[in-house]
Amino acid sequence: MKLKKIISLINILLFAAGLFAANDIALLEKSKNSGMTIYWDSLSESGIIEKNGHQLSFRNGERMVLLDSIRMMITDAPELRDNQLYVSKKFLDDSEEFFNQKSELPFKVGAILIDAGHGGKDPGALKTYKINGKNVTIQEKDITLKVSKMLAERLKAAYPGKQIILTRNTDKFLTLGERTDIANGVKVGENEAVLFISVHVNSSLNKTSSGYEVWYLSPGYRRNVLDKSAVDGDENLYTALNAMLEEEYTTESIMIAKFIMDGLQAQIGKESTARGIKAEEWFVVRNSNMPSVLIELGFVSNEKEALLLNDERYLKKATLGIYNGIAAFITHFERSQGFTSIK
Ligand SMILES: [Zn+2]
Repeated sequence: MKLKKIISLINILLFAAGLFAANDIALLEKSKNSGMTIYWDSLSESGIIEKNGHQLSFRNGERMVLLDSIRMMITDAPELRDNQLYVSKKFLDDSEEFFNQKSELPFKVGAILIDAGHGGKDPGALKTYKINGKNVTIQEKDITLKVSKMLAERLKAAYPGKQIILTRNTDKFLTLGERTDIANGVKVGENEAVLFISVHVNSSLNKTSSGYEVWYLSPGYRRNVLDKSAVDGDENLYTALNAMLEEEYTTESIMIAKFIMDGLQAQIGKESTARGIKAEEWFVVRNSNMPSVLIELGFVSNEKEALLLNDERYLKKATLGIYNGIAAFITHFERSQGFTSIK
C-alpha cells in the first residue's frame, strides 16, 4: 500500500522536517514565475498549489500536505505571517519534486448517483391546487422522481463510460440509511470519484417564498472519510488526514453546487429565482464518502411555482440545467485531475 509506506516514513521525517523550518520564502511572490497557481481560502486557512496538472493541498501550520487528493507527504509547514504565506526551501523543493512526477492515471468521475428525494409512503412536500376546475395534489416525491429519471437518461447518453445510478426509479420508500448504503456501495476505480446529487422540492409557510437553491455539506460536519486501518490506529494522524480529505470533498461539493446553480440559472432563471448556494450541517447524505450536493428545485407552497413544477416542459428545462452543471463540473474535474479551486 502506497499509503502505509508513506506513513511509515512519517516518524523519521517529522524529526527531520523540524530542523529545516526556516520559512523565509513568500509563496505568492515565488509562484509568479514558477508555473504554480495558488488557491487560498482564508477562512479555513488552507490552500492548493497547482502545477503540471498536479495538486498539493496544504494548511497553515500543518506539516502534512495532501498530493492529488490521494497521497500525503510530510514537509515543512507553511506559515501565515502578516497576511502573507511563507514557506521554506524544503517545502518548495518537495513540492517541485511532486509536481514534476508523471501522473499514472487520469483522475475522473467514475459514478454519479442521483437521489430522488422521498418516495412511497413519504410524499415529501405537497399542496393541493385547483387546476382547470380539478383538485390536483402536487407532491415532492413525484417531481423528484421525474427529474431524477430524466437526469439519469441524459447522463447515461452523454457518459456511457460512467456508472449512472438512481437510488430509486419507482415510487418507493427508502430510509436515509438505505440511500447512504447505496451511495457507499458504489464501486469505482482507485482514481475515480463518485458524485452524489440529491433532488428535492421546498415548502414554506410563507406562500410567497419561491426559487431554487443548491446545498452542500459544510466543513463543520466532520465525516469519517478515511479508513482508520490506513493509519495503523494513529489517532492524531487520523484526525488530521480526515480533516484534509473532508475539506477536499467540501471544496468539490461547493464547486458542483456552483456549476449546478449556474446551469439552473441559464435554464429557469427567467421563470424562477436563484436563492443561492447554501451550506448545511445536516444532510441527507452526511455519511456518504463523496462530494455531494442537494438541490431544492422550487416551492410547492407557492402556487405559481407549484404549477411550474407540475409542468413537464419546466421540469425538462430544470433537468437540462442540472445536467449542464454536472457536465461542466466533470469537464473541470477531469481536465484538472481531481483538482478544485477555492476562489
Ligand atoms: Zn425533500
